[in-house]
Amino acid sequence: MDLAGRIAAIKQRIEASCARAGRATDSVMLLPVTKGQPPEVIDEAARLGLSLFGESKVQEAKAKIPLCPSRLRWHMIGHLQTNKCRDAVALFEMIQSVDSLRLAQEINKQAEQAAKRVPILLEVNAAGEASKFGYRPEQLLAEVTQINALPRLEVRGLMTVPPWSPEPEKTRVVFRQVRELKARCEEVLSGALPELSMGMSGDFEVAIEEGATIVRLGTVLFGERQKTA
Ligand SMILES: *Cc1c(COP(=O)(O)O)cnc(C)c1O
Repeated sequence: MDLAGRIAAIKQRIEASCARAGRATDSVMLLPVTKGQPPEVIDEAARLGLSLFGESKVQEAKAKIPLCPSRLRWHMIGHLQTNKCRDAVALFEMIQSVDSLRLAQEINKQAEQAAKRVPILLEVNAAGEASKFGYRPEQLLAEVTQINALPRLEVRGLMTVPPWSPEPEKTRVVFRQVRELKARCEEVLSGALPELSMGMSGDFEVAIEEGATIVRLGTVLFGERQKTA
């Protein structure tokens, strides 16, 4: 199947998952993930109507984005180091991978210097995997008020990368925990957090059934990617 066919098939699967969950089709946004993909692939996706893309490394994005059509918009979805915040604020429309108060404060500082407001998601490591970045739930609840008070940041919701499993049904419980954690954050903040970024190529249908509003899809759209350092 070519890229046009894969995009159409994915959109159908998203629609079907929404229907199963009794949700509106437009309540889920597809974020195509282009890490490890060359600009030609992104150009083709753009010609087919996609305009928002996810990248996981600032360095790769900084080299690639200037080679892509300038009308495209980008989300940062990978671990961000404080010394890359200036570039991240310049390159990305949203940073989905905020996992500490220190990082949030640095993004806030760079946003101030760039005279911008930056929408962010807080990344949760719900299963407590040592190999993953992201907040433990208790830590997030302890810091969310301080992060939300940073004047240049707009906390829009939560993001998670669950433990890998060959059976997406096994991941359902993690997606549910993150949805419940979002509800607890909303109570703490006394305000709505509209976004839940969860679901990748292997498990996005279950994620949608559990409330995902953004699904981040790489392999299922673009095939295997080149390994990046
Ligand atoms: C690579 C990546 C994805 C996409 O993964 P696929 O399994 O290829 O769909 C989604 N989210 C994050 C944070 C990633 O790094």
